[in-house]
Amino acid sequence: MENISIQNNIIKKIPEPHGGRLVNRIFESKNINTKDMFSIEIDDNLRNDVENIGDGIFSPLEGFIGKVDFESILKFGRLKNGLPWTIPIILDVEEPIAKKIQDYREISLKNKGEHFATLYFDEFYSYNKLEMVRALYQSENEQHPGVSKTFKMKEYLVSGRIDVYKKINNFKLRNYRLEPIKTREEIKKRGWKTIVGFQTRNIPHIAHEMLQKAALNIYDGLFLNPLIGKKKIGDFKDELILETYLKLIENYYPQDRVMFVTLHTEMRYAGPKEAIHHAIMRKNFGCSHFIVGRDHAGVGDYYHPFAAHEIFKEYPDIGIEPIFFPSFYYCKKCLGYANERNCPHGLEYKEELSGTKMRKMVTSGEIPGKHLMRPEIADVIIKFQDPFVS
Ligand SMILES: [Zn+2]
Repeated sequence: MENISIQNNIIKKIPEPHGGRLVNRIFESKNINTKDMFSIEIDDNLRNDVENIGDGIFSPLEGFIGKVDFESILKFGRLKNGLPWTIPIILDVEEPIAKKIQDYREISLKNKGEHFATLYFDEFYSYNKLEMVRALYQSENEQHPGVSKTFKMKEYLVSGRIDVYKKINNFKLRNYRLEPIKTREEIKKRGWKTIVGFQTRNIPHIAHEMLQKAALNIYDGLFLNPLIGKKKIGDFKDELILETYLKLIENYYPQDRVMFVTLHTEMRYAGPKEAIHHAIMRKNFGCSHFIVGRDHAGVGDYYHPFAAHEIFKEYPDIGIEPIFFPSFYYCKKCLGYANERNCPHGLEYKEELSGTKMRKMVTSGEIPGKHLMRPEIADVIIKFQDPFVS
């Protein structure tokens, strides 16, 4: 295990938004005449990110990034002005569209034929996909979901500021989607000075719960922020992640210490680079601290398990404190949840419920022991039809 410090000098305030100002480009009440506008169809994933730009989760970005920022992100993991930023937020188009677009200043972004945002065209540019995947995923292997996605992208990128006129309406999944301006208000109202963000794309088992509760021993508030959006085949479905977390909070958490908010963006599986991106988004929500997991945002064995911890050394100026908790497991000798920092016992005493093991249990209908999974959670999972992304 690497030598890490759980608690440095605790920052005791809600951090400023990334780059100093919270972006707000949502104009829901405005009526826009799109009759003479050129339009581009955008899928649900990208639409989520357009909304994330609009409501400030991606602050300070105000739109899809241009060539100079794109190259700076890949080369330095920073915007051209030096601000930490590791994931390029881009719009890809085919060549004929790229060339046509330049005759228009305003472009209508449509989703299933409906205008929801306007892009103020700035520039179009070509890019090198191989350079992009090497920088972002440290791999060229097409088995990697991010690499395979990049190789399928269109040949040009279009940049420009955006205005959002209509938010996504997806019923149940929308209920816990909050803008940073709202989460910051709520944090202030609760009087929290230290707020720890927790990223997840999994259903909660007790090891997660114990880790979150260890954080609650130290910090004023816990910001539970599961990622809702495109994931890979075999991952748990969004609706199930949502339902299980609500059950867990209802039954096992002090309500006034926890905020539950969903983050709607796709998993990119960019490991360490994505860990930085995840931290920046939580900073915009108002978190002062962020728990970075072992192999955070990883997939397969593309990244070293602690690469997502190491990368934070390159970002002392990120403005949110990363927390590196060790993983928790059940120890049959300690008779409780423990971790490598406080339990000396060997592998034969350790019980863990890995995602993979849990999947197997779910498929075979066999309920894990009560010391590994809360019965309320197991119940939700067993009753859920088709729990996995297919
Ligand atoms: Zn032990």
